[in-house]
Amino acid sequence: MEACGLCGSDLEKIRGSYTAAPPVIGHEAVGVVADVGSGVSGIRRGSRVFPHHHVPCGECATCRGESPTMCPDYRSTNLEPGGFAEFFRVPRWNVAHGGVLRLPPAVDFERGTFIEPLACAIRALDRARVRARSAIVLGAGPMGLLSLQLLRLRGVRRVFASEVSPVRSKAARTLGAAAVWNPKSEDLVAAAKKETRGAGVDLAVVATGHVPAIAQGLRAVRAGGVVLLLGVPEIGGHLDFDPSEFVTREVSVIPSNAATESETRQALSLIALGKVDVASLVTHRFHLAEFPRAVSMAERAECVKALITP
Ligand SMILES: [Zn+2]
Ligand SMILES: [Zn+2]
Repeated sequence: MEACGLCGSDLEKIRGSYTAAPPVIGHEAVGVVADVGSGVSGIRRGSRVFPHHHVPCGECATCRGESPTMCPDYRSTNLEPGGFAEFFRVPRWNVAHGGVLRLPPAVDFERGTFIEPLACAIRALDRARVRARSAIVLGAGPMGLLSLQLLRLRGVRRVFASEVSPVRSKAARTLGAAAVWNPKSEDLVAAAKKETRGAGVDLAVVATGHVPAIAQGLRAVRAGGVVLLLGVPEIGGHLDFDPSEFVTREVSVIPSNAATESETRQALSLIALGKVDVASLVTHRFHLAEFPRAVSMAERAECVKALITP
């Protein structure tokens, strides 16, 4: 391992509020191939790589039904013991199914750690299938800031953001947010409507696990709008929203969970071409021995992205 991003879902796993078991932590890892198992082909010792922790089979009913990240094989293998380790093993399955990407020279290890999170944002936006001229990103953490950039890249003219952390709000402004509202002190639904002649935005991307943000997104979109769930909602949460509005206002909720190799390759290419600024998101670096400090800083949202290095 040369670097591994600390993800919001890692924090949820450490807190015990994540849905999926078993809780392996560290899935935004890049490194150098130290050794190759016998009978494993297509990979060489010494290569700089991004190894995807989960890879679908591509052949089962779920995969063929356009839900590859729900493939029964998808989560059955993982990095062992996880990405926050000096050395980890990548299952033969992942190698054989195209899960290991070589990093071109233009992509350093720090940038490489964004392949997985950017891939997740790409897949989420692809799933939204809405022609958006305006959008709001709820939560300007790393996932929100990647989504914000992708939306701008895809031609969404005005992208607003909602964020409580000052350092993250500032990053959202720098990366092109038309306005950033603080949901603790501002009525962001009213603000979003005011900016769209009372209609509401076309798309809301919920890039946080904070459940009240989902309700805010549902209220901030226009009739016929789409709310994309990208952050994993904390388990056991309750949604404060009148379900009749799903039909009377034709509001759609689209969840998106993880990504496949189609998106990891797109993400790598966007990073290599410099189309998405990932380097500026890294505000903190910690050695493995400082891991607890990284977790507590990320929990307080005092950083944008924290990376762990050996
Ligand atoms: Zn992640
Ligand atoms: Zn499958």
